[in-house]
Amino acid sequence: MKGFGYLRPGSVEEAAEAFAAHPGARYLAGGTNLVDLMKLGVESPTCLIDIGRLPLDAVEELPDGALRVGATVRNSDLAAHPLVRDRYPVLSQALLAGASGQLRNAATTGGNLLQRTRCPYFQDLDKPCNKREPGSGCGARDGVHRDHAVLGHSPHCIATNPSDMAVALTALDARVELYGTEGSRVIPVADFHRLPGAHPERDTEIRPGELITGVLLPAARAGVPSAYRKARDRASYAFALASVAVVLRVAEGVVDQVGLAFGGLAHRPWRAHHAETALLGAAATPAAFEGAVALELERAEPLRDNAYKVPLAHNLALEVLNRLAPAPVAP
Ligand SMILES: Cc1cc2nc3c(=O)[nH]c(=O)nc-3n(C[C@H](O)[C@H](O)[C@H](O)COP(=O)(O)OP(=O)(O)OC[C@H]3O[C@@H](n4cnc5c(N)ncnc54)[C@H](O)[C@@H]3O)c2cc1C
Ligand code: SF4
Repeated sequence: MKGFGYLRPGSVEEAAEAFAAHPGARYLAGGTNLVDLMKLGVESPTCLIDIGRLPLDAVEELPDGALRVGATVRNSDLAAHPLVRDRYPVLSQALLAGASGQLRNAATTGGNLLQRTRCPYFQDLDKPCNKREPGSGCGARDGVHRDHAVLGHSPHCIATNPSDMAVALTALDARVELYGTEGSRVIPVADFHRLPGAHPERDTEIRPGELITGVLLPAARAGVPSAYRKARDRASYAFALASVAVVLRVAEGVVDQVGLAFGGLAHRPWRAHHAETALLGAAATPAAFEGAVALELERAEPLRDNAYKVPLAHNLALEVLNRLAPAPVAP
């Protein structure tokens, strides 16, 4: 591992200034992804700016009923928070489906959103990878790609986003709060991660030096029935082959609120806009769910070895939609 500096700022402003003053710096949160990548030589920051002691570790209810989750709230604390379990079960379930208890105790909300892909070519300095080294090629496209993307990929990169939490946040219409030396801004989680296009080296819309300060969970989704389901190779400690987050409210047999997002299928959590549009205002029937999910997944472009993901995602989504929909009232 190469040498690096270490700073522990006392405020958000100091952190952003420290980043600006140290080209090649990285923020350090739980370190569960960044430190691993440093050991592999994929990341070699000049300076680590430790944000672990910034006052960003609270979950607070806002006057409008939204919840604000600080960027350094640990994944295990967020999953266990009574307001999250009660109002946003999909988020709690997604967090608990990720990693292991020990990792969740260290991993943070901001770090989870910015974790890098688990593509093995990205993690191996001897292999070509446009994300790690732009212009070097994509080893996975003609190589081992069973775990890779079936939606929204490009000739330059077929990686998937590994976060479970981000899939739930996408279905919940959550927003990310950012702070940089040029000021603060808030963007929807659904727009935060990018598709690879010609620039897979950029995972998200975050600007250099910007700090995630928190995530906002909207009041409008609070208490709406929701659930997360994940398919993986092992029962724990494994990333999603495919996953689904669903938020669904049915009134008098008609869908009046829906959020649907897939994980494990694309370079970003895949917001199922086409399925959502088809379902909103439709009768909440198994046939309507089937049609809407099929409409979304007809966009899939599977690769040689990952076509299995399409029926897998389809079946996961149908199971959760049908489970969340109230049983029809007998005449
Ligand atoms: C064996 C293993 C299994 C795992 N399984 C899963 C899984 O099944 N599902 C899943 O979702 N995840 C899984 N993970 C990933 C884990 O969830 C992430 O490593 C973790 O969430 C990252 O959070 P962190 O706080 O440790 O981030 P760090 O490693 O500290 O940082 C990650 C990145 O985010 C940046 N960063 C961190 N916080 C901020 C901030 N506030 N503002 C700006 N930049 C910031 C850092 O600079 C770095 O680039 C697994 C990890 C391991 C090691
Ligand atoms: S899929 Fe993306 S991350 Fe993986 S080798 Fe190709 S360019 Fe790199």
